[in-house]
Amino acid sequence: MMTILDFEPDPELPSFDFSGIIMHECICGSDMWKIVVSFKEYEIASYMLDMECIHCGTRAKAPTPPDNPEYEEYND
Ligand SMILES: [Zn+2]
Repeated sequence: MMTILDFEPDPELPSFDFSGIIMHECICGSDMWKIVVSFKEYEIASYMLDMECIHCGTRAKAPTPPDNPEYEEYND
């Protein structure tokens, strides 16, 4: 079984600082990120917006629901 400790960025891969740029998938092709979260009642309650790709170490901004162009603040 893999743990988070198995996902140190590969020093052979280039990494970039895209802090402030919302990304779902890293430029290296990975869609897995290291991110700081808190939990409440067995679900993610909050998360920090800065994140780091687990494969190459590139930094980016985590997406949030209001970032979605189809997001509606108030549902009917
Ligand atoms: Zn990456």
